Amino acid sequence: NAKLNGKNRYHIYDAEHDRNVRGYHQSLVEISQALEDGQFVLYYQPKVNLRSGELLGVEALIRWQHPERGLLSPFHFLPVIENHALSIEVGEWVLREAMQQYGDWLQQGQDIAISVNISAYQLQQYNFTERLFSIFNEFPQVPRSRIEIEILETSAFHDLQKTSEIIRHCNSKGVEFALDDFGTGYSSLAYLRHLPVKTLKIDQTFVMDMLDDPEDFAIMEGIYGLGIAFQREILAEGVETEAHGKMLLQLGCEMAQGYAIARPMPAKGLLPWFAQWQPFASWQNTPTLERD
Ligand code: C2E
Ligand code: MG
Ligand code: MG
Ligand code: MG
Repeated sequence: NAKLNGKNRYHIYDAEHDRNVRGYHQSLVEISQALEDGQFVLYYQPKVNLRSGELLGVEALIRWQHPERGLLSPFHFLPVIENHALSIEVGEWVLREAMQQYGDWLQQGQDIAISVNISAYQLQQYNFTERLFSIFNEFPQVPRSRIEIEILETSAFHDLQKTSEIIRHCNSKGVEFALDDFGTGYSSLAYLRHLPVKTLKIDQTFVMDMLDDPEDFAIMEGIYGLGIAFQREILAEGVETEAHGKMLLQLGCEMAQGYAIARPMPAKGLLPWFAQWQPFASWQNTPTLERD
């Protein structure tokens, strides 16, 4: 009987929906508790100049050191708190932790710029700028120019005019922005001119595919050329191999981040890593191809 089946289906769906809602609230409680218990940690991934080996800064990447489940990637918990006030608490924890870490490295004689990822939800808060500078004020030893904000292309284009105003305002007070995962947002590249971001971070998918896909290489060339024309800095993400680095250098792209350089690591690993790291010899020698 079709009606009965329909009703049964409804009940099954309903129970599952119920479980999901309870699961969601349970997760929020756990994440909130984890924040209170100090279970979040920042890992740091170096950004370098491939040719010179210079350390340009590090990107702070959140992890959850879960007592039972081990070290959890942000994909396990950031999507849960997306669009929830908790994402602001986590985001502000990240900012404070990064500023603290900047101060720690500075005390060790190392001035290392730190990039922090900001969620769309946090960026869209009416008082984002105010909150940001109030956190800066808690850390007077941290120059505003040494903490960079990474925003996703998708969150920037959500309300382009408002986002440009926020960035312009922050710029006027010394804070720079980078556009993360650039190229994946399906937005018209022309809008870039309205967005005063200092740096474009080319998404890792383009870098990973450009070796064997001429079209991806063409996209890389295009994005790099566009960035140069707009006078932005361009950093390539997802440099996993020596060959990736070589090809980027042929394009002229020297700023990069990726496993071939270093994986994200706990703060205490960074200075020892840098003391022994050097670029591949081929990176130092690869000429930039002439373009016409
Ligand atoms: P993202 O900001 O684009 O960060 C780069 C991601 O790529 C990181 O993943 C990094 O570990 C990974 N990665 C770096 N080099 C390579 C490589 O050579 N190959 C591959 N396959 N991956 C590489 P992670 O740490 O898992 O973070 C994932 C995303 O989660 C980040 O992407 C960012 O969007 C978000 N995220 C991480 N930390 C935070 C945070 O504190 N706040 C916010 N709002 N988002 C964060
Ligand atoms: Mg990022
Ligand atoms: Mg990215
Ligand atoms: Mg990404």
